[in-house]
Amino acid sequence: MASSATKRIWYSQYACEKSGDFPEAYILIGDREVADPTLEAWAAFHQALTVAGYDAVRVGTYNCRPITGGSKLSLHAYGIAVDIDPFALGNPYYGRSHPKGWRFSWAETKFTEGQVIAVESIRTNDGKKAFLWGGRWNTVKDYMHWEIDVPPSSLATGINWNTVPGGAQLAALRVEELQETLNKMGAKDHEGKALVVDGDFGARSQSAWINGMRQGGGGITQGKADARYVRRNVNVTSKFS
Ligand SMILES: [Zn+2]
Repeated sequence: MASSATKRIWYSQYACEKSGDFPEAYILIGDREVADPTLEAWAAFHQALTVAGYDAVRVGTYNCRPITGGSKLSLHAYGIAVDIDPFALGNPYYGRSHPKGWRFSWAETKFTEGQVIAVESIRTNDGKKAFLWGGRWNTVKDYMHWEIDVPPSSLATGINWNTVPGGAQLAALRVEELQETLNKMGAKDHEGKALVVDGDFGARSQSAWINGMRQGGGGITQGKADARYVRRNVNVTSKFS
């Protein structure tokens, strides 16, 4: 696990980037601003939690602010962290340091152990664990909080979708439809070409998909309809919930 100080260096160029300049990834309930290198990781995050049956109410990512009780920037200011459902029932810190309890929640999580494991299983193609859960911290636990735990260089190797619950299945089931959608959006692959609709979720499709998300189209590829489809058609939920 990398320290916050290390992550501030890794992602320094995104610190308090102007809201609206970040690309968006679809996370559980809608498009959210995140640092560009983390787009695919958040798509995997969304996929894992959705397949594991998590129903979110509130999701917050980018926020240019210091950490609570300090002057250093929160990792939310870099677009590499997410807070989910800070107002969950039973949150012992609700309202403790912020009138709305959002800022530093230690929210009592609604995540099941299986849902936590579903996200923690996500690896990059160079074998690194992509996410760190605030519920694992030793001193102050922050159960609503997840953050990227790898440098941009690891994310650049891509997410290993075989480690994402429902990920490989999603690719196999939906890839032709996804390719057609990306072509309609005008999202091009890493060589600037439109996709051949062949059902193969290879390097071209993956780069076009990420480019589609950069265009603000996260919702069309990783929306709830896709997730419901996977849950209906693929027997992966039982393993992770
Ligand atoms: Zn947080």
